[in-house]
Amino acid sequence: MYFHSTKGKSPAISVSDAMLMGAAPDGGLYVPQYFPAFTPDEFGDAKDLPNIARTLLRPFFEGDKLASELPEICETVFNFPAPLKPLATGAFSLELFHGPTAAFKDFGARFLATAMDRLASPDKPLTVLVATSGDTGGAVGCAFAGAKTANVIILYPKGRVSSFQELQLTCWPGVTALRVDGDFDTCQALVKAAFADPALKSRYGLSSANSINIGRLLPQMVYYTASALQIFRRTGQNVNFIIPTGNLGNGMACLWARACGLPIGKVILAQNANHALTDFFTTGEFMPAASIATIANAMDVGNPSNFERFMTNRAMLDHDVRAISIHDETIKAQIANDARAHGQIWCPHSAIAAHVYDRLKAIDKKQIWANVATAHPYKFRESIEPLTGSKVQPSPALAAIRDMPSSFTDINANLDALGAVLAG
Ligand SMILES: *Cc1c(COP(=O)(O)O)cnc(C)c1O
Repeated sequence: MYFHSTKGKSPAISVSDAMLMGAAPDGGLYVPQYFPAFTPDEFGDAKDLPNIARTLLRPFFEGDKLASELPEICETVFNFPAPLKPLATGAFSLELFHGPTAAFKDFGARFLATAMDRLASPDKPLTVLVATSGDTGGAVGCAFAGAKTANVIILYPKGRVSSFQELQLTCWPGVTALRVDGDFDTCQALVKAAFADPALKSRYGLSSANSINIGRLLPQMVYYTASALQIFRRTGQNVNFIIPTGNLGNGMACLWARACGLPIGKVILAQNANHALTDFFTTGEFMPAASIATIANAMDVGNPSNFERFMTNRAMLDHDVRAISIHDETIKAQIANDARAHGQIWCPHSAIAAHVYDRLKAIDKKQIWANVATAHPYKFRESIEPLTGSKVQPSPALAAIRDMPSSFTDINANLDALGAVLAG
């Protein structure tokens, strides 16, 4: 299988090369040449994620240098569950927060880290640069913590992440955390500048782990496949998903699983007040905007970068795919109401999906719905606790992070300072 660029001006390459490249040289994003067709039977009676992953991902790795290692990679990566929990409302919650940093980004980050560590070698180590505004850096740092030949440097904006987020960015052994004197855009610009410097790029084998990397998208198809198979085997029905959406990575993965013929019906992309996608579905025009700060801040994206992948596979956007935008006041009311009525505590992103289901169930009652829960509420407790009036307890993984030692280095926002860190 080859992967080609959405801009169509770079050569098609294998999945390993696409993972190492991040974005394509022509500025486009890598997409698979085609979507292999699956029937539920091809998965036999596989239930666990590693087994489902190896069957689903095999065609994407066909002919690739990691093809023979794929089963082992899947075994390493998918070592925590993505359970479907029945809710009091009649829907299911697809819980994607049982990984080590308690957000769905653990799946993609762990897959990319495991693959990259196998692609690098002691004589040709890799340095992965990540600019983060919070969640991504934690998942990526954790995923690379045990890596032997791939090192991570995380750049985060000083004074602009919560105290728990900062801990989660700075606690991983072997991972360098840089507290940059600037905002998130500054961090991102610094990473871009490093990549644009040919000497730095080749001397340190610079690579990126941001959410447009194909190595983060492919593994996210796995939990949609596993939960759709589970529902299909039990009921013979397709499951509909409501997915909290920012950069469109998680939603794209679901649409790709659906394009592979898996038993998935409707897909609703649920945004916060950043509504470029919702507008696109109503008007047919895509008008990226500056991002608006919301309570669901991991989705504060005005110009979803994966939109480009959307447009190269327009056939995926049939009448069963929709987008909807929810405002902060509605999100807050949903968190407060579900806590009171059902004792159910949502993170702000997951609350958006729960709200959309409540709004839709009157019309689609006979169908089976799964709301995607993208993070554990403890990560966002500062905004949740005032709404529910009670303390949010950490998951075991998050409690463990609280006790870890943390260290970071302050740097000025210029390439010389970053170069000095790279030089060690
Ligand atoms: C990143 C993130 C999202 C948004 O996912 P995208 O792939 O960017 O659409 C939603 N919820 C949480 C908790 C996240 O960390």
